[in-house]
Amino acid sequence: MTRNSPIAFLDLPRQQARLGDTIQRRVDAVMRHCRFVMGPEVEELEGRLAAYCGAAHAIGVSSGTDALLMVLMGEEIGPGDAVFLPAFTYTATAEVVLLLGATPVFVDVDPKTFQISPESLVSRIDAVLAQDDLEPRVVIGVDLFGQPAPWDQLRAIADRYGLTLVDDCAQSFGGSYHGRKLGREAMATTLSFFPSKPLGGYGDGGAILTDDPERAELYRSLRTHGEGRTRYEVLRIGINGRIDTLQAAVLLAKLDAFDDELARREAIACAYDAGLQPYVSIPARVPQSQSAWAIYCITLPDAATRDALQAHLREKGVPSAIYYPRPLHFQPAYRDQHDETVRLPVAESLGEHVLALPIHPELTDEEVQRVIDAVATCAALENGAA
Ligand SMILES: *Cc1c(COP(=O)(O)O)cnc(C)c1O
Repeated sequence: MTRNSPIAFLDLPRQQARLGDTIQRRVDAVMRHCRFVMGPEVEELEGRLAAYCGAAHAIGVSSGTDALLMVLMGEEIGPGDAVFLPAFTYTATAEVVLLLGATPVFVDVDPKTFQISPESLVSRIDAVLAQDDLEPRVVIGVDLFGQPAPWDQLRAIADRYGLTLVDDCAQSFGGSYHGRKLGREAMATTLSFFPSKPLGGYGDGGAILTDDPERAELYRSLRTHGEGRTRYEVLRIGINGRIDTLQAAVLLAKLDAFDDELARREAIACAYDAGLQPYVSIPARVPQSQSAWAIYCITLPDAATRDALQAHLREKGVPSAIYYPRPLHFQPAYRDQHDETVRLPVAESLGEHVLALPIHPELTDEEVQRVIDAVATCAALENGAA
């Protein structure tokens, strides 16, 4: 490693060097027993995931997107139903709503934490009720960037309006709220094991967590074509939504190292905070929480400064990314779903200010310092902190 070789945004080769042997042993066991679909590793992983966050049930599924889809199918969400979700999130959160023929209602986010705004949520629910053409059914809270959504407020609002709460925890498994691991804040919690998520596999995978035994049984049926007690009893319309045994095997090995990885991410975040504070706005913390640090997102005063910093970092071999350049209701796929006279001002402006820096357990202390030095030497920031 030379001093100026490019730093990776996600470093799977180094992860392989660190964990490859233990992962290989797990994979080899699957190669020997050959139960590639619903092999014993799936149930083992489900037990480990549930125990990790104290949920009663975990159901291993094919992806974070399919997890959300099946949870909404379980609530029989369809045409005429309104599903509320933040405008500042990944497309998967909203896509599943439209796949079922329901209507996504976009909600603004908090200007400091970027999490869904309870005030905006209330006003969006009231607006749907006043219009009287859609039935409010579900709120999907997204735990963005590793931090929890404001679950205390979301629960109070969901109770007041009789809505079902779903936690899209794709980015934040391992994070905690009021001292307890995320996974039990809503009726159902969905996880993603996409390689770049805090608990990343080597391909697609996901899980659903719930404390409700009936819903757990329902999700197990939905992930296998709606099957009943025997394979050829079809109770309902489901999907092929299972997690592969090989993926479960990889994740079991990765779970053993997960807490160490979370601690390393936290240490890097603290080093960034201390080193970057004089130059940029560092990430605001959600009160009473611990982040899983999927993403370390700084903010800059305007797009020109942000873009100049990004170019300067690139020159120094430091990768960065913009999550998310556009809110969902400005995307071609969703534009028709949103009344353009309704402004979501925070979500609409964040895309000009945000910049994500590399944060993963493979970063060395020297690389962390290189990232800090690269930001500190950016001429565009010379006028000091935002
Ligand atoms: C990654 C992600 C998903 C989708 O997960 P996949 O496993 O890629 O399908 C859903 N919601 C959010 C917020 C995500 O970041």
